[in-house]
Amino acid sequence: MASSDRKRGLFEGKMSRRKLLETGAVAAMSVAGVGLAAACTEEAEQKHTTPAGTAPAATTASPGPIGSPALGSSSIVSLTGNPQAIAEVAPGTIFFPYFGNVIALLTDDGIVIVDTSLQGNGPPIVEELRKRTDLPVQTIIYTHGHVDHVGGTDAFLKDADARGHDRPTIIGHENVIRRFQRYERMAGWIRFLNAQQWGVAPPDPSQPAPVPVFAYPDITYHDRTSIEVSGETFELIYGMGETDDHTWVWAPERKIALAGDFFTWACPNVGNPWKVQRYTRGWAEGLEAIAEKRPALLLPGHGPPIEGEDNVQAACLDVARYLRSIDDQVVERMNKGQWLEQILREVEPPADLAAKPYLQPIYGHPKFIIQGVWRQYGGWYDGNPANFFAAATADQASEIVKLVGAAALLSRARDLQTIGDLPLACHLVDWVCKAEPDNADARRLQRDLFEARSAAEPNMMARNVFKGAAAEAEKHLI
Ligand SMILES: [Zn+2]
Repeated sequence: MASSDRKRGLFEGKMSRRKLLETGAVAAMSVAGVGLAAACTEEAEQKHTTPAGTAPAATTASPGPIGSPALGSSSIVSLTGNPQAIAEVAPGTIFFPYFGNVIALLTDDGIVIVDTSLQGNGPPIVEELRKRTDLPVQTIIYTHGHVDHVGGTDAFLKDADARGHDRPTIIGHENVIRRFQRYERMAGWIRFLNAQQWGVAPPDPSQPAPVPVFAYPDITYHDRTSIEVSGETFELIYGMGETDDHTWVWAPERKIALAGDFFTWACPNVGNPWKVQRYTRGWAEGLEAIAEKRPALLLPGHGPPIEGEDNVQAACLDVARYLRSIDDQVVERMNKGQWLEQILREVEPPADLAAKPYLQPIYGHPKFIIQGVWRQYGGWYDGNPANFFAAATADQASEIVKLVGAAALLSRARDLQTIGDLPLACHLVDWVCKAEPDNADARRLQRDLFEARSAAEPNMMARNVFKGAAAEAEKHLI
């Protein structure tokens, strides 16, 4: 299909088709990373169970050779979007760089939307879409059921209703249904853990969490399926990666892969500290399957597009090799009877991949991946029989403090602080705080240690845990 046909629905007015053509794919690519990073300081608009809070300040720097965000930038945790960076990245393919990204695939007779972002991002994205086209949204594809990919659907459904269009058909993998049901059942837990992951104040447990309202898929599939819109085929392919309900989309006529969260411009978030099992090998297999199609353009779930067949190959296969390496190393050590503690200390990802801009541990972390692999293939026993039907940690701490004395433990913790061994210092202070919860010296030191660790920590989730620990210590000093 000729690209001019595909864009027939684009307005000729203020945001004219010509204007879209002028901005073009290459220009869009070069600004997308910075655009996302610049959005990091905006307030999250999301309510209910979606992550909320203000993301850490972003670094601004020139984009890398394949449209990368600045090395170490926080684009992955930008919760809102940047309307200035919305672009037609390929003919009839509009990319909305939000958290998560939304892609509109325009055909002659209708639009296929891939993902709908967070609930609060839905209305501004629809508004921006309507500046560019009045075509009906015919189909909405969910890459997976995470709220930053399905939350904005209601805005698209309301838009269709207001325009007198048919209700768009929603398609997702069959496991999306189970995920939505779990989120409805566990709204309180999800609110509690998201407050920790995203570094916002803990919720008041006496206030029940609002139960989220999801737009369920109308059509589900098991392994793979395809849809045809205005004579154009879109393939939906299942993979177990970040989730067990994950779809990636292949648009063969455009040579575009829509990867969802198989690609996120960060170390893959396998082994999330709070969340259900994720799949290291399945994630690698998904990326390898994407690479096999030899896409000319990769549109990820988070972060900017990757343009050019060679760049897409390199990015997908690098991340796949990173994941396979960690998975293989952990399994090899498990087969030798090693315990998780040793494995966590000794396994490293391939050194040649550590500097890649799309593998920085700003969101996922190699140590989280090791935990995820262990959990997938092993159980909860840590190999220490003292921890099997263990005594309460508060009782252990009381015995240690009785024997050594709180002052001696805090003095040694300060020495460790001075030489920079903050993790070990935290353990000594933890014993005192557990034995004597209102010991002000201990709480002050605990606050200072965790504040220092938070300030120095590049990983968002670890940073938020340390920030939460410092705030908790501070509460005992008021
Ligand atoms: Zn996700």
